[in-house]
Amino acid sequence: MSDGCCGPVALEIEPFPARATPRELPTVVIGAGPVGLAAAAHLAERGLDFLVLEAGREVGASVAQWGHVRVFSPWKYNIDAAARRVLETGGWTAPDPDWLPTGTELIEGYLKPLADHPAIAPRLRLGTKVTAISRLGYDRVRTKGREEAPFLIRLDNGDELQAKAVIDASGTYATPNVLGASGLPAHGEEEVARLIDHALPDVLGADRDLYQGKRVLVVGAGHSAATTLLVLAQLEDTPITWAIRAGSAARTYGGGDADALPARGALGTRLHALVESGRITLITGFYTRGVTMTSDGLKVVSRDPSGAERSVTVDRVVSATGFRPDHSIASELRLDLDPILGSTRTLAPLIDPNQHSCGTVPAHGVDELSHPEPGYYAVGVKSYGRAPTFLMATGYEQVRSVVAALAGDWEAARDVQLELPETGVCSSNLAEAQEKRVGLATGVSGGLLATPLPLVTVDSGGCCG
Ligand SMILES: Cc1cc2nc3c(=O)[nH]c(=O)nc-3n(C[C@H](O)[C@H](O)[C@H](O)COP(=O)(O)OP(=O)(O)OC[C@H]3O[C@@H](n4cnc5c(N)ncnc54)[C@H](O)[C@@H]3O)c2cc1C
Repeated sequence: MSDGCCGPVALEIEPFPARATPRELPTVVIGAGPVGLAAAAHLAERGLDFLVLEAGREVGASVAQWGHVRVFSPWKYNIDAAARRVLETGGWTAPDPDWLPTGTELIEGYLKPLADHPAIAPRLRLGTKVTAISRLGYDRVRTKGREEAPFLIRLDNGDELQAKAVIDASGTYATPNVLGASGLPAHGEEEVARLIDHALPDVLGADRDLYQGKRVLVVGAGHSAATTLLVLAQLEDTPITWAIRAGSAARTYGGGDADALPARGALGTRLHALVESGRITLITGFYTRGVTMTSDGLKVVSRDPSGAERSVTVDRVVSATGFRPDHSIASELRLDLDPILGSTRTLAPLIDPNQHSCGTVPAHGVDELSHPEPGYYAVGVKSYGRAPTFLMATGYEQVRSVVAALAGDWEAARDVQLELPETGVCSSNLAEAQEKRVGLATGVSGGLLATPLPLVTVDSGGCCG
């Protein structure tokens, strides 16, 4: 049952026949985050049967974990067009298009009303985790007749459903990258896991006692790290160390005034000032290799490629090292994954973080998202694999295209359009200016500066001002 704004909604699902023809079956959407719910809105608009399965007790369960964080992109980029049309049939009032919502505002002002809409609510099943996807009667090897076989979706309670197609919008938030610099867990990482937080702890709110007055190490060079550092700097008597693998923090300081999302540009500028002032101690070239508990605290050891070791001892660590996709639920499907990013192979060159910031990722849709397994599409932030450039607006265009293809409207499916805010960090002349600003020889870090960052900024306090 949903306890959203519009009263209880029956979520009983009719059992499917032993072997249904795919045409009679719904499309199953995995995950009710921003992109999964946008897919639902497109499916509803097209009159296609669908079912949304969400592991959390509420929609936007991953967004809720960073509910205290204010995003960089204003509302006008965060609302899917079909979702808007659906919502507008129900008396919903659109938020200020230029306002930067927090994760919580995104849920309350958009995702929950959308989930509660009569076009979606009866087809949404909360607290329902998908553990595996296959084809009924087909493991990954068996070919003959495969395409006609329905998808088989197994849930964590053992139930199984059949589907005509699967739109996997399950995100990456549950699978953060490890602390170890080589992509493997740092030695001892699991043993001291209680002293390591991932991504964005609520430093000024629920997690304040864990940080106030403690020595804190933040590891990572993205916007999640930058955001956490800025918030930590507001706590008195809290020594902050920031460790990055790169030889310079230029990439994190970013595009400044040139960023089309001003909140994002300001983040790097403010962080740079805090490092310059000595409030934050920056350690570059730090390759985390091990963590161990000592009588003085948590000792975090780096060993760089030359074999040189150094360490920092703290009370708590924030591991802001990004996320990776978990494709294990689809391991019986035929996926063609890029060996570097874990996106589709076709999408990888379009989102390669060495080439593109979020503002330069070209429009893409069903063709770039297709795997050798027809009818299975990973969309949303999961579609990007390890590339940290994902924006909701990109995901909305993905699902518009995929759903158009499922409806047989290939003209619309292939007419992909995307208008995204540009970031200053990807333009070569800005890269030069940035290098000069941080004292690097021009040209040395062009690749670094071209590398985009995940998007995070901090809730400034009140909800609406
Ligand atoms: C801190 C932060 C700030 C960001 N700021 C911005 C921004 O400013 N602008 C922007 O455009 N983007 C931003 N992003 C990136 C991105 O837009 C969001 O991460 C967005 O939430 C991605 O939407 P999604 O629907 O693809 O995945 P998610 O929001 O991660 O949703 C996935 C859903 O799937 C569910 N799920 C997972 N596994 C299963 C399963 N096995 N079975 C069933 N359900 C499952 C989860 O519970 C979750 O509800 C930000 C991301 C982060 C982390």
